[in-house]
Order: sequence, then C-alpha cells, then structure tokens
Amino acid sequence: MIEELKKETGLDVYEASIVEAGGVTYFLGRQGVEKFVASVGDGGIIGEKVGELNGKPVIVGPTDHANALVIRKALPWTRPRCLGLLKSVGMGDRLGLATPGHIRAVSGSGLAVFLAQQSIREMVRTKRSPDDVMDSATWGVLQEGFKDGFGSDADHLQTFEDIDRTVKAGFTMFTIDPGAHVDDEADTASSDALAEKVAAIDFSEMETDAADLAGRYVGKTFDLGDTKIAFDEEILLRAVAKYGKAVAHVAKMYRHLADVASGPFEVEISVDETESPTSPAEHFFFATELKRLGVEWVALAPRFIGRFEKGVDYIGDLDAFAASFAEHVAVMKALGPYRISIHSGSDKFSIYSIAADLAGQYVHVKTAGTSYLEALRAIAAMQPELFREILDFARERYETDKATYHVSADVTKVPSADMLKDEQLPGLLDDFDARQVLHVTFGSVLTADGGERFGARIHAALKADEETHYAVLEKHLGRHVAPLRQ
Ligand SMILES: [Zn+2]
Repeated sequence: MIEELKKETGLDVYEASIVEAGGVTYFLGRQGVEKFVASVGDGGIIGEKVGELNGKPVIVGPTDHANALVIRKALPWTRPRCLGLLKSVGMGDRLGLATPGHIRAVSGSGLAVFLAQQSIREMVRTKRSPDDVMDSATWGVLQEGFKDGFGSDADHLQTFEDIDRTVKAGFTMFTIDPGAHVDDEADTASSDALAEKVAAIDFSEMETDAADLAGRYVGKTFDLGDTKIAFDEEILLRAVAKYGKAVAHVAKMYRHLADVASGPFEVEISVDETESPTSPAEHFFFATELKRLGVEWVALAPRFIGRFEKGVDYIGDLDAFAASFAEHVAVMKALGPYRISIHSGSDKFSIYSIAADLAGQYVHVKTAGTSYLEALRAIAAMQPELFREILDFARERYETDKATYHVSADVTKVPSADMLKDEQLPGLLDDFDARQVLHVTFGSVLTADGGERFGARIHAALKADEETHYAVLEKHLGRHVAPLRQ
C-alpha cells in the first residue's frame, strides 16, 4: 500500500502514520522539508485531489490548523485526554518539532506523557499560539502512529484570559499558577509585619475568617502516619500571609475554568516559581484550604528546597531533599492522592529515583527547555556554522535574558565560537555554563532580536535531518524516563 500512496501523492510517506478510520485512510508525508497530510476516501482532509486509488479520491493538503482539526476529529488518539493519576512526564516542545523524539523517549516505559505542553510565557517568547502547540503535537502523534494517548498541559496560567485561550485550543490539563499572589516575605517577616500582612488579607475571598482558621489549626497536630504536621499561631499566620491570597486566586481560577471548559479537564497547581520553599506545613495548609473551597487537582508543584536551575542537575543536599520530599509525599497521600509535580524537572538526574522511590506512582516530572538544548546539540553536529553564530549571540544576550530565570552560569566560562573546533561544539551541550547560557536565551534566538537571523534557519536545519534531531531527544529524554519507570 505504501508504494501506491507514494506514487499517487508524490510524497515521502511516513509509514507509521498510515491509518484507516471510518472508511478513509489518512497519512502524513513529506516533500523536501515540508510536511503534508493526505487522505484516501470521501470526507477526508482539506486539500487538492491528486488522483484516485481503487475509485476513491486521493487528497493532499497542508499540515495547517484546519486539517489538524479534521485529524483530531477523525482520529481520537491524536487529541489529548485527561490522564488522571498516572505516573507521568511532561515534554514541552518550544520549536514545535520535537514530538516524534518525545514519543520515542517515552514509548514502552509505562509512563504517561504530556506532549502539548507550554506555558503562556513560553508562547509569548516563541510567538506561538495555544493552537500551534496543540497542532504540533497532533502532527507528531500522527507521524509516529502513537495511539497510547497523551496529555496536554496549559502551563503556568495566571489569568482568566490564559484559561479562555487554552480551553479554546482543546487543552485538557490546566496548570494554575498563583505565584504572583504568594508572599515570599512571610517566612522572615517580624511579628508586627506579619500581623500587618494578615490584616491585609480579605478573608471573605477565602470564605473564612481568622477565628475559623485559628480554630482549625492552632494547637493542632495532624498525624499523617509517616510524619506529623503541627501548627502553632505563628506557623499558621505565616502560612496564611504567604499562601492565603494564592488560595483565593486558585479557587477563582478553578471556578472560571469549570465554567468555560467544554469537556473533561484536569488541574495542576504550581507554586514552584516562588522564592521561598514550601514547607510541608504550608503544603498542608494550602491543600486543605483548596479542598475546602471545592478545588480538585491531579498534581501539585510545591517549591522544593535546594535549587532547580534551568538545564542542569539539582543543586543542594540530596539527603535534605529526600527528607523534605518524603514529608510532601505524606501530605499528598493524606489530602489526595495527587501527583507531586517537579517543575524545571529536566536534567535533575540525581533526584528522579528519590522521587520515584518516595512518591511511587504519584509523581510528574515536567521538562521543556532541555528539548531546545538537544535541538541545538543536533544543530551543532549538523550545521556547525549556524551553531557558532547562535553561541556567540547567546553569550551576548545572557546577562539580559537571565533576569527571569533561576540560573547561576558564568558567561565568561563559555568559550566563544572561534575558540572551538567543529567536533568540540556538540560537547558544549554537556557543559553547565554553556547549557544555561543557551537555555535562557531561547526567546532572543527564536523570535526577538535573533528571530529573523536564526528562527527559520533553525527550523530548516532540524527539518532537513529530522532523524538526527529525534535521536538526540530520544537519548536525552530517555535518561529522564529510565529512573522513573521502575
Ligand atoms: Zn514551573
């Protein structure tokens, strides 16, 4: 059949994509570096009739949004679904070209995977829309013939508008981020300052009052089996000052989502991007109050102790991390279960087995930027000259671009391109400082100052030799998946 399809369409057909549904055969193919979708039969994709096969029309069309909608309707496994409490890994794809590599990394692992995953911030920086993100996942899933099902994650949503846009694009999981309403100073505030902070909270938004909260927490010790969580007045006040407004904001966002959602949806709650770590008592308070307000969620991302810097391994004491993670797991099991979500989760090789040992199935590891770095590794091997330009540009941009990220790289330790031989270039992607410098400058390279210079060339390079791109992704993300699978 594949030979006939090739002959009729003139496309280099992806064999794994050929699938029949409702009497129509669908498949994906390429011509040069451009991809096309095709169908054989009546009522298939939108495009041009190029011939007939066994009396049925053969149509070839663009891999655009209109056809992505057709494919998602015809082939349910190409649209995302809710994954509930399955152990999972999230694989964000900033370039929109990584899905086949992601699928290969996770296939056969038993882990569930989130493929369409991008935060609003990343969409702004890469000039992509929620539709783009969803469509890229659909085409990648079709290309690989991946029928196991996958999740989608509209990540770090802060406003009603963020929710509305991503609901419309068909996302199924929504990560609500109330980080802007978390008061990082509450941990260290003097008792006067703390009293002022608490006085400034509108308790009606939390549907409670100070006396009710005190009655439910102060002087209480909650026995969670493996750990005990004790509250005195000060612990409660700090928790209220720090997370009270965040509780109210999540409840508002959740209710809005429930109003506008058009089908089943699931929720993650993330406070990982705050300055101060979430203590187990604060996790307990935050989750207890959210439950009281009727919020339901499948994953929660505390801000852990230690440093979760972009693109590099965990920085901190592993024993202390394990002890703290175990307490978070105890809270999660008592109030959930739900998955403990590890954000900035890529390249944290020293903690995956700790997390999997302690949380069992209730763990989610979220990765994104590391796939962009692996794309650069592929480019370093395939088009050294292009990589050299990107490297020098990133070195110039780093001091500015690092502002909104947790990174500590020293750009003076990253060699300029003229100091390296071609064969040394891919190895830069194993260097701490170079990884962070290349990581946080993705927005500048892909869209902002570097957009015209690099954007199209990066896409063209990866499309020209996509198997090399998929292979580096499979290898690198496979290293994330292996310790989690157990
Ligand atoms: Zn995050």
